[in-house]
Amino acid sequence: MTAYEQFEGHIAELNDILNSISILKWDARTNMPPGGALTRGNQLATLSRIANDYFVSDKTARKLDAVEAEIAGEDKDSYRVRAVQQTRQYYELVKRIPVEVTAKKATLAPISEQVWADAKQNNDFASFVPYLQQMLDLSKEQADAIGYEGHPFDALVFEYEPSATAASLKVLFDELKAGLLPLLKRIVANDKPLEKDLWQREYPLDKQKAFGLEMAKKIGYDVQRGRLDIAPHPFEISFTRNDVRITTRYNLNYLPMALFGTLHETGHALYEQGVDPSLTRSALTTDFLGQYPVGGTSYGAHESQSRLWENQIGRSREFWVVHFDRLREIFPEQMADADPDLMYRSVNRVRPSLIRVEADEVTYNLHIMLRTEIEMGLLDGGLKVADLPDVWNAKMEEYLGVIPPNDSKGVLQDVHWSGGGFGSFPGYTVGNVMSAQFLKAAHEQIPTLDASLKQGDYSPLLGWLQSNVYRHGRAYSANELLERSTGKTLHVQPYLAYLEGKFSQLYGLS
Ligand code: ZN
Repeated sequence: MTAYEQFEGHIAELNDILNSISILKWDARTNMPPGGALTRGNQLATLSRIANDYFVSDKTARKLDAVEAEIAGEDKDSYRVRAVQQTRQYYELVKRIPVEVTAKKATLAPISEQVWADAKQNNDFASFVPYLQQMLDLSKEQADAIGYEGHPFDALVFEYEPSATAASLKVLFDELKAGLLPLLKRIVANDKPLEKDLWQREYPLDKQKAFGLEMAKKIGYDVQRGRLDIAPHPFEISFTRNDVRITTRYNLNYLPMALFGTLHETGHALYEQGVDPSLTRSALTTDFLGQYPVGGTSYGAHESQSRLWENQIGRSREFWVVHFDRLREIFPEQMADADPDLMYRSVNRVRPSLIRVEADEVTYNLHIMLRTEIEMGLLDGGLKVADLPDVWNAKMEEYLGVIPPNDSKGVLQDVHWSGGGFGSFPGYTVGNVMSAQFLKAAHEQIPTLDASLKQGDYSPLLGWLQSNVYRHGRAYSANELLERSTGKTLHVQPYLAYLEGKFSQLYGLS
């Protein structure tokens, strides 16, 4: 056996352990009765420790040394070299994080999450302060152990968005704000209620599921290697490219929740199902930090696909011109007095609101910037935990023109910080920006793309994304994927042009 084959075999088993952990997580979030929570926590902790011990071991070190010698001089862009490089990079990274910090964070997380949930319920930020403070201190310790050149945030964002730093995000955010804030002002000034409110009607859940799944299959979701379930906090999760599951949640009146939630998670799933089969169980579909999505190169790259299919395709005029008849076939009474144009306008309403997960395409990124800026302030000491509600509300007013009536609808709305997940938010915005770059490049490279989208044929677009993005798994960074397929690294112009074009037309802006 060559050193590479031995290395591959070693990583394949780690991939098996991590995917088994993911199956238990999927089960916990979809089917598990509440009584199973405590023992499931034990099972996950045990398996995570086994995975960590397996990875941070002398055996891994020996296999890495041997394979590095063997592949020296090979093409640096080949999957083989990238697989070894990434394993080495994460091996060194995980080794640097003190075991005590990881253990303390893992033990504190479920308690902190429970305190957060109660605090949110009771609008009691003060009760959450000591836990948030501990999570922040542990995250700072983690950042110091990992090391950084610029800002402590850089060490933490690496886990989610390896190409990003505090400095690069600041530039990105400033450019986005310069476009988004004036656009939002013009939209709000021109806003008129629609002639009919489609979301005051009732849409039976079984029919919602049927239509959502039909649209998911239309854009390319392979249900031989996937399934759709219900979850209160929807997600996509994969256990190799051959089993990629999605979840959604339903609201009887508000049809867009499940429909676009399903298309969003389908976008994530298309990425995972499209990974090159040769990468199955390899380092290039292994998240060494025990997170998911596993097959994508970063949160942003993954989010670029969920957002592209949900928003740029699913919320496009062309989509509803093609699929409205089918929607009306499934909901004949509810859609009797509607048409494709009303549907298009109804699913693209812009409204500055308090809650991130309910935000529209124009305001969404402002919610992300606010959170990321606060995280940076907490990590560099510019902000104190106790000051968060005031800072939050001031930024909400500045960016969105609305002030939360209480902390439950403000600083307490997201679960992320209770588990110490600092650095995960910018992925959403990076993904939005990337999605427009990819779609622009696909249009330039496939002259007939417009025509096929107008006919509801998504295979040319899916094929382009598969060969330029999905198949590579984690082989190339987000910026490398962009550079290889569009000729440019991350930049905001295509995304701002997309929003400006779409919403100027929708809101009759000059
Ligand atoms: Zn997503």
